[in-house]
Amino acid sequence: MSPNLETFLNEGLENLKEKGLYSTIDVVEGANGPIIEIDGEKKINLASNNYLGFATHPELIQAANEATEKYGVGAGAVRTINGTLDIHRELEEKIAKFKGTEAAIAFQSGFNCNMGAISAVMTKEDAILSDALNHASIIDGCRLSGSKIIRVNHSDMEDLEKKAKEAVESGLYKKVMYITDGVFSMDGDVAKMPEIMEIAEKYGLIVYVDDAHGSGVLGKGAGTVKEFGLSDKVDFQMGTLSKAIGVVGGYVAGSQQLIDWLKSQARPFLFSTSLTPGASAAVIKALELMENDPSYVDTLWENANYFKEKLQAIGYDIGKSETPITPVILGDEKLAQEFAKRLINEGVYVKPIVFPTVPLGTGRVRNMPTAAHTKEMLDEAVAIYEKVGKEMKII
Ligand code: PMP
Repeated sequence: MSPNLETFLNEGLENLKEKGLYSTIDVVEGANGPIIEIDGEKKINLASNNYLGFATHPELIQAANEATEKYGVGAGAVRTINGTLDIHRELEEKIAKFKGTEAAIAFQSGFNCNMGAISAVMTKEDAILSDALNHASIIDGCRLSGSKIIRVNHSDMEDLEKKAKEAVESGLYKKVMYITDGVFSMDGDVAKMPEIMEIAEKYGLIVYVDDAHGSGVLGKGAGTVKEFGLSDKVDFQMGTLSKAIGVVGGYVAGSQQLIDWLKSQARPFLFSTSLTPGASAAVIKALELMENDPSYVDTLWENANYFKEKLQAIGYDIGKSETPITPVILGDEKLAQEFAKRLINEGVYVKPIVFPTVPLGTGRVRNMPTAAHTKEMLDEAVAIYEKVGKEMKII
């Protein structure tokens, strides 16, 4: 190994370990369903984003298998050479219909969708107003664009209006975009869409909503923008196919013109091999299931409300989530880590979330109840929460 690389890695790894930022990775032995097995032990899984239980749904598995038989395991090329299969076209038509837009473009992940879509439209002559709690992929997409990045205090509409006015009236920028998560993944709060659109219309802002955690959850599954009846107003409805949809991939839904532009300019679309046929078919099936059967989304909400009420009843602070995301706020970072460890040992798989992912002093354990959990599983998880909480004198 190059001595410079060795020094860099030794110092870097040591530094991460000292600061408690070194990631240890648990390995799930088998499927990531409502019950998972880690180190040979079964745990109730409250850490996945598999909101509707689609990741292990038999109809999605069958659709993926059939498409794999028909098309093979790989698409064979990037989209603009000959990696656009008819199943990709069908997928994009389905996404557009689902989102209520003219068209849609699919990417290989939500992360590279944000990297590709933001940087395909925004340039160094522009400015991006970005909510302070936006996801890492938005931050990286903004950086890649070379635009001036202006951080807006989280969901602070006064701050947004002030900064939008300043940016637009400065005359320094050709375009100004506001970009926000639809649902914020650490607290489960929802972007203030009606106020955002009012400000955007007043100042002529481009609006980009990353609805990774809102799609399949809000708006009867169609997402945050649909929940507020704004499908024809928001320029970019971005989302991921890896959470409620249960598979993998990302997309932007919007006007035909926007999608035409992204298909000729977004670099991950141009230079990275397209989604596998199996994944594409599974997503199409997920969208069909959601469209034809409201019980998936209804069960998700029923389970989430059930779980939240029970945790609150035994004395936990579950923050101000407006969605199934259920944080249990502990405050102290070390306490959050110790609490999660104890829960896992007792049979509930959760992740502690601490600074710098959330502000200092707001350490928490995040729970993601899903439509695939049974009431018995949730009851058992609550019983473990009660036992560990009492032992640790948290409740
Ligand atoms: N945006 C947000 C808000 C997310 O939470 C995530 C997933 N962590 C992504 C984008 C990236 O999506 P994917 O996992 O599909 O790359």
